Amino acid sequence: MLPRDLVLKFLNDRGVGAACGVCGHREWFLGDTESEFAAQVPILLEKGLQFPTPHLPLIYIVCRNCAHVRFFAKGLIDEWAKGQLLTVSEVPNGG
Ligand SMILES: [Zn+2]
Repeated sequence: MLPRDLVLKFLNDRGVGAACGVCGHREWFLGDTESEFAAQVPILLEKGLQFPTPHLPLIYIVCRNCAHVRFFAKGLIDEWAKGQLLTVSEVPNGG
């Protein structure tokens, strides 16, 4: 589970541009980030074909104008989010 507000904070903090690379529109739909059923892409490892096929979990956003899709590696955002949650919980009196 990855809270939507943390995903948006990650994208903003990392300087992900709001303008769509295809049409320039600046409004996006954020795909499901909170269920265990993340979008995934199959990956091929050095061992060759494997079953079950390894997958890379993804976070995706979709341009509300032209439907262009952008993907981000969920694992890296998960790691970053753990640090964010730790920082918040360390603030005395809950901040
Ligand atoms: Zn677009």
